[in-house]
Amino acid sequence: MHSLNADLHCHSIVSDGTLTPEALAARAKANGVELWSLTDHDEVDGQQRAAAAARALQLRYLAGVEISVSFAGKTVHIVGLGIDPDNDALRDGLKHTRGGRERRAREMADALGQAGIPGAFDGALDHAGNPEMISRTHFARWLVQTGRCGDMQEVFRRYLTEGKPGFVPHRWATLGDAVRWILGAGGIAVIAHPARYKFSANEEYALFSEFKTHGGRAVEVLTGSHSAADSTRYAKTAREFDLLASRGSDFHSPEESRTDLGKLPPLSAELTPVWSALAHRVHGAA
Ligand code: AMP
Ligand code: MN
Ligand code: MN
Ligand code: MN
Repeated sequence: MHSLNADLHCHSIVSDGTLTPEALAARAKANGVELWSLTDHDEVDGQQRAAAAARALQLRYLAGVEISVSFAGKTVHIVGLGIDPDNDALRDGLKHTRGGRERRAREMADALGQAGIPGAFDGALDHAGNPEMISRTHFARWLVQTGRCGDMQEVFRRYLTEGKPGFVPHRWATLGDAVRWILGAGGIAVIAHPARYKFSANEEYALFSEFKTHGGRAVEVLTGSHSAADSTRYAKTAREFDLLASRGSDFHSPEESRTDLGKLPPLSAELTPVWSALAHRVHGAA
């Protein structure tokens, strides 16, 4: 159970990844993944394609999504696993969450323009395709493509983050709404990459306890954005809050992502894997 090669977090061209759902399924299979989930940001449009591609490869699949939430003045990501992607309340909630992206992107482009970088909206839109899905990742790709920055990490160090040119604060979904949409669609809610938020101890306690009060049940212990020390720390947090543990690379692109699909270490045997509570939601289970 612990040694199962589960990869329950990644992105396709439907949100801010660079591979199609089919190419991701093939890459997951080739890398030895045994249980896979595609978790695009605020959108479930890739779910049918991902499930079909997984089925053709005899790769077990959980429908997924990663919802953008505002909490304590920061953006927190909540992954939903084992959801029904056709659930109306979930779809309406995600549509509402996506609603502000284009306006925010125009403000980001204005701010970059004032910092001497014109043309960012059209540049980012070229990468996103759809203005409803435009994200900081698409701006970052354009900044790299035009030679303003050497790589994606440099972009987020110099631009698009709090206090830097091109950052625009934004109001996403509430924590309670995101968890309710996931639960209502039959899924399990998971706090994504907790080490990324840099909350104070009090804020982090509030996040985990409010999440549990809303019915959230899991936390990502192993993710591409955690160091080994982060993973140890959140393994402890998972036990303290009696949460299930998840494992997901957060893979976006072969050119950009440090952690490939299926390449994280196994979950510690002291944790209960989130997939132990999701067997009934797995597509292609024997
Ligand atoms: P948005 O939802 O538009 O705020 O964009 C957030 C996305 O930007 C995340 O999902 C990541 O894909 C990407 N991102 C954020 N911070 C970083 C970083 N430090 N390095 C690389 N990508 C990042
Ligand atoms: Mn992303
Ligand atoms: Mn995320
Ligand atoms: Mn992600």
